[in-house]
Amino acid sequence: MTFVETRGNDKQKPKEVKFSYAILNPIASFGGLYVPKELPKLDENFFKEAKNKNYKELSKELLSRFDIDIDNDVIDEALALYDNFEDPNNPVPLEKIEDDLYINELYHGPTKAFKDMALQPFGYILSNLAKKQKQNYLILAATSGDTGPATLDTFANKENIKVACMYPDGGTSDVQKLQMTTQEGKNLKVLGIVGNFDDAQNALKSLLASPSFIDELKKQNIKLSAANSVNFGRIIFQIIYHIFGYISLLKEQNADKFYSIVPSGNFGNALGAYYAKKMGLPIKKILIASNINNILSDLINKGIYDLRDRKLLKTTSPAMDILISSNVERVLYDKFGASRCKELMDDLREKKFYELSKNELKSLREDFDAVYCDDEFAKQIIKRYAKKGYIMDPHTATTLSAYENLRDENLPSIACSTAQWTKFAPTMLNAIKNDNKTYSDEIALKEFSEALHVEIPKSINKLFYKDIIHNQVIEKRDIEKEILNFIKA
Ligand SMILES: *Cc1c(COP(=O)(O)O)cnc(C)c1O
Repeated sequence: MTFVETRGNDKQKPKEVKFSYAILNPIASFGGLYVPKELPKLDENFFKEAKNKNYKELSKELLSRFDIDIDNDVIDEALALYDNFEDPNNPVPLEKIEDDLYINELYHGPTKAFKDMALQPFGYILSNLAKKQKQNYLILAATSGDTGPATLDTFANKENIKVACMYPDGGTSDVQKLQMTTQEGKNLKVLGIVGNFDDAQNALKSLLASPSFIDELKKQNIKLSAANSVNFGRIIFQIIYHIFGYISLLKEQNADKFYSIVPSGNFGNALGAYYAKKMGLPIKKILIASNINNILSDLINKGIYDLRDRKLLKTTSPAMDILISSNVERVLYDKFGASRCKELMDDLREKKFYELSKNELKSLREDFDAVYCDDEFAKQIIKRYAKKGYIMDPHTATTLSAYENLRDENLPSIACSTAQWTKFAPTMLNAIKNDNKTYSDEIALKEFSEALHVEIPKSINKLFYKDIIHNQVIEKRDIEKEILNFIKA
C-alpha cells in the first residue's frame, strides 16, 4: 500500500510513500495528511471466512491485505498487546441493548478508552521502527483526555522514543489527569496547558511546523512524529474494529446493511468507518453524534464548516469538545481530490470557514448523516439505560441521539462505545441522581459503583494513591522551551 497527500505535493517531499514513512513523518506537503492511494476490497468470501476469526486473526488478515511495509513478526507482537485487554479472547465485545441497537465496546484496554485500540499496536510498531533505524523520535501528543493516557501507556520506557504530552488544564476528568500525571517512564513529559483542547492541538501543530524547534531537534539528532489521529498508523487500526463489530453482529442476526453510529471529535473513529465502508463493509450510513460543539453536524447537514463566532464550549463529553476536527480533511480529499481539499483547508485557515457546493454536500451525505445533543440529553440516556442495567459513559450516550433521530430504515445499528464510565464518574452520578452537584471523581466512583453494583477496575482505583510525577502547568508560549529542556535533559 502506498500513501499520497491530501493537499497535493510541494515537490520537496516524496510524492508517494510507504506506511512506515507515513507514520514516522505524519505531516505531508502544505500541512496535509497522508492517505492510502487505494484500499483493499472485501468480498463475500472475506466475510464468510471472517466469522471464524478472533480479533487478532481478523486484524492480521486485514493488515496483510493492506500490504504495509512492516515485518510479520512485528505485526504479531503488536497484535499480541490485545491479550492485555480485559478479555483476551474478545477485546471488543458487542452488547445488544435494544432489539436493533448494539454497542461495540471499544474501551476494554489498559487506559479504558477506545484510544487503546489503535495506540497499543501502533505504539509498538512505531517504537520498533525507531529502534531498527537507530533513530530517536519525539512524539508530540495533544489530548482532550484520552489520547494522552493511551499514548503515555504505549510508549512508556520504549527505546529511541520520547513523548511530550499536552493536556488542557481543567479540561479533563480527575481520572484522566491522574492517568497522565502519575505515569512512570523516564522518556515521558506531561504538561498541563492554560487553555482548551484546541489551544493544545494548535500548539502541537505549530511546534511541528516551527523551524527553530525542528532545527534544535536536528542538532540533537531527534526526529518529530505525532500520535494523534493525524497519524495514519492509528487510522489503520480504527478500520478493523468496525469490520469486527459487523462480524459479531452477524453471529446475532442477519444483516445485509447496518448503521454505524460514531460519537465524534477529531473524526478518526468515523474515518475508520468511512474507509471500512469503502472497502465493502455494508454500512448503510455513518451516523455522526456530536455534543453542542456541533461543527461536524453543521458540516454534514448544511455543508459549511464555520469557525467564525464560534467558541469551544465545555461539555460532559470532553473528548468531543473540538472545533478543528483534523480527519475531516481525509474525507474531503477522498471525495473531491487534492486541489479542492487544499482550497478548502486554505479557506479554513485564512477565512475561518469553508463551504461545500451543493453537489459536494450531496456526496458527503451519501455516506454520513449527523446530529448533536446537549449534556442534559446525555444524562437522561445514561439514567434510562442504567435503570435497564446497561452502563454507558457520556460520550457513548450521545450516540442515542443519532439512533433516535437519524435512521430512516429498519436496520440494525452498531454504536461505538468509546470510554468506560469510570473516566467520567461525576457526570455518571449527576445523571442517576438527577442533580448538578460537583463531585470529585474519587467520591463519585465510589457512590456510583455502590448504587449500581458495578466494580471499579483496580487500575482506576489505584490512581488515587499513586505519586504525582508530572505537576507542571504552563502557558502556551512556554511550551517550546519546556519541551526543549526535556529533550536536552
Ligand atoms: C477520542 C474520543 C472520542 C472522539 O473520537 P474521534 O476519533 O476523535 O472522533 C469520543 N469519545 C471518547 C471517549 C474519546 O476518547
